[in-house]
Amino acid sequence: MKKVIIRKTEEIENWRRNINSEINFIPTMGNLHNGHLKLISTAKNDNSNVNLVSIFINPLQFDNKLDLENYPKTVDNDIKISFSNGADAIFIPSNEDIYPANNKNIKFLKAPIELSSKLCGLNRIGHFDGVCTVVYRLLNLIKPKNLYLGEKDWQQLLILKNLVLKEKLNVAIKSIPTQRDFDGIPLSSRNVHLSKNERKLIRFFSSELLEAKKNFQQEKNINLNKIIKKLSEKKISIEYLEHLHPHTLQKARLEDNISLLAGAIRCGKTRLIDHVFLMKRRPIIAIDGPAGSGKSTVTRLIAKKLNLLYLDTGAMYRALSWLILKENIDYKKEKKLLNIFKDISIIFKSNTYSHQDVYVNNYCVTEEIRSQKISSIVSKISSIKEVRKFLVEEQRKIGESGGLVAEGRDIGTTVFPHAELKIFLTASIDERAKRRKFDKNSKDLREVDLNTLKELIKKRDFEDSNREISPLIKANDAIEIITDRYTINEVVDKIIDLYNDKIPKETEIK
Ligand code: C5P
Repeated sequence: MKKVIIRKTEEIENWRRNINSEINFIPTMGNLHNGHLKLISTAKNDNSNVNLVSIFINPLQFDNKLDLENYPKTVDNDIKISFSNGADAIFIPSNEDIYPANNKNIKFLKAPIELSSKLCGLNRIGHFDGVCTVVYRLLNLIKPKNLYLGEKDWQQLLILKNLVLKEKLNVAIKSIPTQRDFDGIPLSSRNVHLSKNERKLIRFFSSELLEAKKNFQQEKNINLNKIIKKLSEKKISIEYLEHLHPHTLQKARLEDNISLLAGAIRCGKTRLIDHVFLMKRRPIIAIDGPAGSGKSTVTRLIAKKLNLLYLDTGAMYRALSWLILKENIDYKKEKKLLNIFKDISIIFKSNTYSHQDVYVNNYCVTEEIRSQKISSIVSKISSIKEVRKFLVEEQRKIGESGGLVAEGRDIGTTVFPHAELKIFLTASIDERAKRRKFDKNSKDLREVDLNTLKELIKKRDFEDSNREISPLIKANDAIEIITDRYTINEVVDKIIDLYNDKIPKETEIK
């Protein structure tokens, strides 16, 4: 494809018509560094869309005229390195192009006050309104499928996600982790203004944040005053240093698994920001839903794609039911049950087909627990108080350090109520019966006619949803996905998008 430079807004429309492809859009203010180049190369590697980089120093987002005048300009080099790193087109509009005088169509937007009044918004009045206005204008001109932004400007990322939702823009936001220089400081166009000594100070600031992150992993709490004292001793002028919820930017609460430690300092004339995410454990995804909703297939694929542990809690209830049947145990007698709990070991092992085998006391039960015989008693057994108490504890032990996707009936409500993402997966009864009939794991259902299957599923739904302890219900904060009209891959992609939206990419970096 021929690489092009577009300088006029009118040319964008023409260009779009000719390319015959979706667009990845990477907005920048120029003076490109490796952070920008990472955005461009990520877009290039993500898909086969056309990559458009814009270079525009937006005057509306500068609260200080001198800062605007001094903003580094290196357009010729920017063009060269954008093209050599995967850009297909570069848009370099003038001020008049973006904000034509007397054009009533330009919408001047206000960033939401709850997000824009915090952190950088405290001292940069109107900055985020300017960011929203220019991005909205660019998105309307370019109409990209994906918008690539860096997590370095986390507050801006949140505000732009909010803009996309509020203005119902049809664009997906993809983010990349903060890119750092050789000495650990975040790459920023403003770094060129730093003297040697100032650079030393910002290095100290960034390494203090990293140190706080390391300590947090051990201690699970943070002492802001201690950090502020250390920075002050180095005569670092702190504009703010806050520990916040990463999405609402409200003060972090004890129960928040992921939180944001963000700060801004002044070094000479330059103002620099940096942050780290603090995490008590790795993230957890909870997927609940009735029988046949596609939970197992979807959960397994998500685990593989996101490199998370896969926990099939239904298999644990089935495994226990299998043992109870095999040993002919009277499960209505509490004492008999407690005896089994003492000795039973239920473990999962990956097999060669990248599926999991289930072992009860070292005996592989993967196939046997899927029989109709087990399906018909598992709901009864899973409604017993002692059984639930025992297995929920086992499940929590497995999930103690996070990093897993668990499927079941009560994951989001009971087992992991603080899971970062909760999904309630469901489908119509007709669809679910069809899926069960052709499920390769349920071989003994092939001969059962669809109507009988529907009745069996309805019965199990009823028992699971009406039991006294942790019945199958959608958690208040779960997102419901009705899967009838979607393919498996579409459901998986949807959940991965939701996950990426909640979990900063930076948390994946050790
Ligand atoms: O998901 P699956 O069909 O394998 O689950 C089998 C049964 O185990 C469910 O019908 C339900 O009675 C029980 N179960 C439960 N809580 C879970 C997972 C499964 O009660 N978290």
